[in-house]
Amino acid sequence: MVYTRLKLGIVLILLLGFVPSSQANTLELVFEDGRSRNTLYTLSEGGVEYIPLNQVVQAFNLSRNWDSLNGMILLSYRGRTASITPDQPIAIVERRSYSFKNSPKYIEGILMIPLDYVINILPLLYDKEMSWDSSRRVLRIGSSRIEIASLQHAVYTDYTRIVIQTNKSIAYKVVEKLPALLILDLPEASFILPNNPLQVGSNVVKTVKVINSYGTTQVLINLGEQFASYNHFALNDPPRIVIDVYSTPGGGNTARKEEKPPLVGESLNPLDILPKARTPTTVRAVIIDPGHGGRDNGIALGPDLWEKDITLTVAQKLSESIRRRLGVRVILTRNANENLSPVERTTLANSTKADLFISLHVNNSFSPNTRGFEVYTLDAPGTSDNTNPEALLVKASALDHAQETYLDKSERLANYIVTAYNEETKSKDARSKRAPLLVLKGAIMPAVQIEMGYFSNPVDKEKITQEDFQKLIVKVITDGIINFKRYLEQVSLN
Ligand SMILES: [Zn+2]
Repeated sequence: MVYTRLKLGIVLILLLGFVPSSQANTLELVFEDGRSRNTLYTLSEGGVEYIPLNQVVQAFNLSRNWDSLNGMILLSYRGRTASITPDQPIAIVERRSYSFKNSPKYIEGILMIPLDYVINILPLLYDKEMSWDSSRRVLRIGSSRIEIASLQHAVYTDYTRIVIQTNKSIAYKVVEKLPALLILDLPEASFILPNNPLQVGSNVVKTVKVINSYGTTQVLINLGEQFASYNHFALNDPPRIVIDVYSTPGGGNTARKEEKPPLVGESLNPLDILPKARTPTTVRAVIIDPGHGGRDNGIALGPDLWEKDITLTVAQKLSESIRRRLGVRVILTRNANENLSPVERTTLANSTKADLFISLHVNNSFSPNTRGFEVYTLDAPGTSDNTNPEALLVKASALDHAQETYLDKSERLANYIVTAYNEETKSKDARSKRAPLLVLKGAIMPAVQIEMGYFSNPVDKEKITQEDFQKLIVKVITDGIINFKRYLEQVSLN
């Protein structure tokens, strides 16, 4: 260990000699479960702090492989992998892509990992809790991870009780998507539950499902028609979270009736229902999905600006424009910086009985020349030939065929939007494409995902944050929807 430290120290001294504007520092790695301390040497350059990859691999006991096909380094720990791509602030962990602030880079031939990768990405891979104390410069590696031990329920006359037992007491937050969903937001936990999703089938709770979502674990409680209120509390010995869901208003937090979107189908989880084919004959309601949110930032667009911010800004403007020009109902899947998994987004879309679904994103490519405005529809399984990085999010699911019924209409909607863009800009910058995108897969309505431009392209990058360009996007999407609505109305007359 002493020898290693010495060697790393020498490497850093050498690096410092080569990189005049850089600064060396150290940070302490404290393993709380017995394995004392470990010092890591860091190097700051251009205000960004880096740690040599070798040190990270050694200190965290990771293994490393080179994926030459994708030009990535894969770090593994107990069967989980996280990628590192030089000069790209994106990591793929367990098939999902995550952004962080600063790209890994080579300095004098040594691959350096930015500190924010270690703090934000490694915890997704490593099965220990980590917390960074920036004032003391200590990275604390906690004891074992949180584990959900069991998921139970009991049905009483006027309420249903859900009990989530954990291996230790944890902080949690309840997010209301009333009257469809209650979401319990937990720190990332591991769980092997034989009864997940839990089929409750009472008049107030349909199912309870535990999922992992962007570094957190969420418990999705799909509520039944008789839902009126709920209450929640934590207990010890054993540590557990209890949620009581009432069919009477007195139970606790009352359902806000005015927010109640109409429900569709027997269940609200798109993975649990067989979609009922509805044939839209006009557009009465539109659901807009601002991509990413909460801990899932999407692409870093600036020092403190993320894809999740831009998608929300444009979604709010678009919502206003559609309401004004079409006079129809518009629902946003999120109206704040909130964590939502693709499954929850589709669940909300389906439960609102909207006639079309639009998800907003910003694209990224390894090739800086790729640019333009792209409207994606769901790729039919097996024909995938695409480079959309967000397609990595797709997993096989029970609803693989839900969107297929609507593919024709989804493509028509995509083409109307693309045409509106090209006419408005007198260009051919817009095109429609297909990709296996998870958020579109379970949608039981015409659905498209719009990539407003490529942040990796200098021209697009400049435009994307500009108000004029956002106005243009809002206008052409609204134009496209107007034409699509006309088309639906004409078809239904024949
Ligand atoms: Zn995105």
